[in-house]
Amino acid sequence: MTASPLRRTLLRGRTLRYTLRRNKRTRRPGLEVCKRDGLVVSVPWRAREETIPELIHTYADWLVKKLDAYDCWDGPWVREYATGTELLVLGRPRRLKFKALAAGARGFRAELDLDHLTFHMAPERILDPAPVVEKYLRDLARDHLVTRTEYWAERVGKAPKRVIIGERTTRWGSCSPSSTISYCYRLIMAPPEAIDSIITHELCHLRHFDHSHRFWKLLDEVYPPHRLWREWLNEHEDELIV
Ligand SMILES: [Zn+2]
Repeated sequence: MTASPLRRTLLRGRTLRYTLRRNKRTRRPGLEVCKRDGLVVSVPWRAREETIPELIHTYADWLVKKLDAYDCWDGPWVREYATGTELLVLGRPRRLKFKALAAGARGFRAELDLDHLTFHMAPERILDPAPVVEKYLRDLARDHLVTRTEYWAERVGKAPKRVIIGERTTRWGSCSPSSTISYCYRLIMAPPEAIDSIITHELCHLRHFDHSHRFWKLLDEVYPPHRLWREWLNEHEDELIV
């Protein structure tokens, strides 16, 4: 896949920004809309760019409905952080607070309590705190996911060779034949029980590398409420965005 530049077109008289992806493995063009990425148009590698507005107009009714529902006419979601903004951490909304350290201070410090997440950082960084918030979430995700993976690995009876915390994976978790488990760091926004449903699912793949009857039987034994929490994740996917 190539870098995905933002394009612009008019749809029903309104400006629409979308991402164009050229994909070597795509044979036919495809349109996808979600809150985080907005409209993404995937086309075959050599597709002519002039054909894309026509493609978009062919699906105008469907697109307008989706774009309105997700409020994403402007393209990918850009999250703004400020004191008072709510952020989900381990399934609980926490109010953000930003406090200034001395000017020029390096690094940052974060305190998480039941209802708040407080960051201490240099005043110049408070102007654009998104990189710090993301770094914090990634670090927290790594700690939590690695610890819980170790915990569940003992119960499943198999441990992965490596655990990777992904930047931007489209799936919550995946397991490779070389016994590497990857997780999306945004999982840390979900309740601990939902996170466990992904961890146990991937760990069970170390025993059964498929979705066979035996796989589901093992997962049912290891973590009985997995279906319930998987459903929760499907329903709340659009809230777990950074
Ligand atoms: Zn699976």
